[in-house]
Amino acid sequence: MSTPQLLFKNRRPGETVFMEAYKATGGYSALEKALTKSSPDEIRNLVKESGLRGRGGAGFPTGVKWTFFPSDAPGPKYLVCNCDEMEPGTYKDGVLLAADPHQLVEGMILSAYALQTDVGYIFIRYAYERQAEYLRKAVEEAKAAGYIGKNILGSGFDFELLVHGSAGRYILGEETALLNGLEGQRPNPRMKPPFPATRGLFGRPTTVNNVETIANIPHIVNGGALWFRDLALTPGSSGTKLYGLSGHLNVTECFELPVGIPLREIVENYGGGMRGGRKFKACLPGGASTPYLTAEHMDVALDFDSLEKVDSRYGTAGVTAFDDQTCMVAATLNLIQFFARESCGWCSPCRDGLTMMRWLLETIENGEGTPEHLEMLKDQLKNISGNSFCALAEGAMGPVAGLLMHFEQEIVDHIEKGCCPFRD
Ligand code: NAD
Ligand code: SF4
Repeated sequence: MSTPQLLFKNRRPGETVFMEAYKATGGYSALEKALTKSSPDEIRNLVKESGLRGRGGAGFPTGVKWTFFPSDAPGPKYLVCNCDEMEPGTYKDGVLLAADPHQLVEGMILSAYALQTDVGYIFIRYAYERQAEYLRKAVEEAKAAGYIGKNILGSGFDFELLVHGSAGRYILGEETALLNGLEGQRPNPRMKPPFPATRGLFGRPTTVNNVETIANIPHIVNGGALWFRDLALTPGSSGTKLYGLSGHLNVTECFELPVGIPLREIVENYGGGMRGGRKFKACLPGGASTPYLTAEHMDVALDFDSLEKVDSRYGTAGVTAFDDQTCMVAATLNLIQFFARESCGWCSPCRDGLTMMRWLLETIENGEGTPEHLEMLKDQLKNISGNSFCALAEGAMGPVAGLLMHFEQEIVDHIEKGCCPFRD
């Protein structure tokens, strides 16, 4: 049975859909329906009942997050879309925006109406120049059509939407660093609590949601909460998800598939199996911050709850697969090199801990490791986990935890052989 295409409904290779084509397939009907027939409260309840969980990686229930937002409070309040997609192995938001930018624009207006904010920002990754251009064009088209501006569709609701380019570092995707960046400050993460819902942009109540999360809102308004829940394959899950495939698969594409699809289907059917007829060894199921899955997890459902039960995470559902010729020490080192480079340097568990971890993995990979290095690696994992100021270092521990959980023997082999067993 093929998956209903919501987010990729209008996706055609090499094409971008703008206003006329977007409206031809039902675009802005959800906005018209909501603004003329539903109260903001009703939309907030609908999103809560739909079970939509954040698609940026953390999976926080969107409707619950929206209940923290003081919609009735006087003064400025903001809606911010986090499009600073820089997690290695994650490119789904970029694909979505290259195909159909109006989905995000309609979702932003609907979400702002539900939250009763009159200003929204889309904070977009530095490298997504093309998507930023498409978004700016879509915003202009929406303004010309009367969907953005004053008294939208005669509802009395006003909304302005701005597209803001990121400065190009990974930490800007952390929501509070993003808010500092948007304010023109150095993008250090802020202490949480207070969460942005109470003190966010310019010290005012702010909701930060991911692109794919917001793009789902028009579909939920049109289809209803129950319909949205039924799209998922596993109890307690809801909706479809954009799965960005990468690594040693034959097909490295982005697909819209149900939440709860088994890993086997992703690897064997959609990914077309492993390149060169090799065997599947492992994968990152949801971006670089998620612990590895192995061949024994082939029948695990890809959803938030099922992956936690096997000590991994759904994350962004960016599935990066590794074949049986991959050195998992080298793969993990590659990820830690990225995280150590992107550390903002504010707290020592991350600044010093990741540097130490990079050195330990380099030493082992280069065949200079000893059993003490393995013990130090385990110690560092404990020292960093739960002790960093923001989620960057915590996320970096995902693949290290996976390496130690499933591939400790590979580390031992490096130490015993005095070289990387996967190098010629
Ligand atoms: P988090 O779990 O701390 O928060 C998730 C969201 O829920 C935030 O918006 C937060 O404000 C809100 N929230 C949580 N508890 C709350 C409370 N008690 N009151 C009010 N609001 C509350 O996670 P995070 O630090 O926002 O994100 C970490 C995740 O980001 C990682 O899991 C990783 O997978 C993902 N990530 C994604 C990318 C990407 O490119 N998409 C990049 C880096 C990391
Ligand atoms: Fe900065 Fe890393 Fe600490 Fe986050 S965990 S505040 S990125 S040093």
